[in-house]
Amino acid sequence: PDREWDSPAKRRLGVMGGTFDPIHHGHLVAASEVAAQFHLDEVVFVPTGQPWQKSDKHVSPAEDRYLMTVIATAENPQFSVSRIDIDRGGPTYTTDTLRDLRALNPDTDLFFITGADALSQILTWRYTEELFSLAHFIGVTRPGHTLANPGLPEDGVSFVEVPALAISSTDCRDRVAKGDPIWYMVPDGVVRYIDKRQLYRGD
Ligand code: ATP
Ligand code: MG
Repeated sequence: PDREWDSPAKRRLGVMGGTFDPIHHGHLVAASEVAAQFHLDEVVFVPTGQPWQKSDKHVSPAEDRYLMTVIATAENPQFSVSRIDIDRGGPTYTTDTLRDLRALNPDTDLFFITGADALSQILTWRYTEELFSLAHFIGVTRPGHTLANPGLPEDGVSFVEVPALAISSTDCRDRVAKGDPIWYMVPDGVVRYIDKRQLYRGD
């Protein structure tokens, strides 16, 4: 009760940032589990902006990643999608995401949901101290990654074990490139959208 993020009156908004190239059931199960355990009113999925052209990594167009995220979340009344990072342009910094969401959502506590792999990089992010003042961080388990983080402020981070789904976007892209099925790894509508737009064929 003395912790700010426990105050009962405020709206509770989960924030799930990601490249979502493509969004898959690992993302959706993690968001659903955190929403239940933390009594969140809503989870907003925030696809990252388009990184400036990097030679080492190809990322699908923001509009495709945005639309796949909308398709995947459309039927869940607790899930929504925000364009803020896409419309800001350039690479996404989590401080910008959280600052913008704060401004758009007064009287709301933010819960930033992040996988073990992403959380382990958190101390290397910019403005770490400000990050923890903007949101409560929730680290979720992810197969193949350990959830241990000495050095993180103990009041600023919680850990949640989610049902393990060993799915990654990288693996989904590789499977499509090889002609292997991704049915049941991503929502049906996302399988069809990838096919319709011929995504991940040339990688
Ligand atoms: P890529 O392979 O391209 O890196 P990804 O599968 O890691 O894609 P991201 O969009 O990078 O997906 O991930 C967004 C967030 O979702 C990150 O915080 C990541 O840790 C988390 N996440 C991704 N896959 C899972 C999973 N299977 N279980 C739990 N969390 C996951
Ligand atoms: Mg990743």
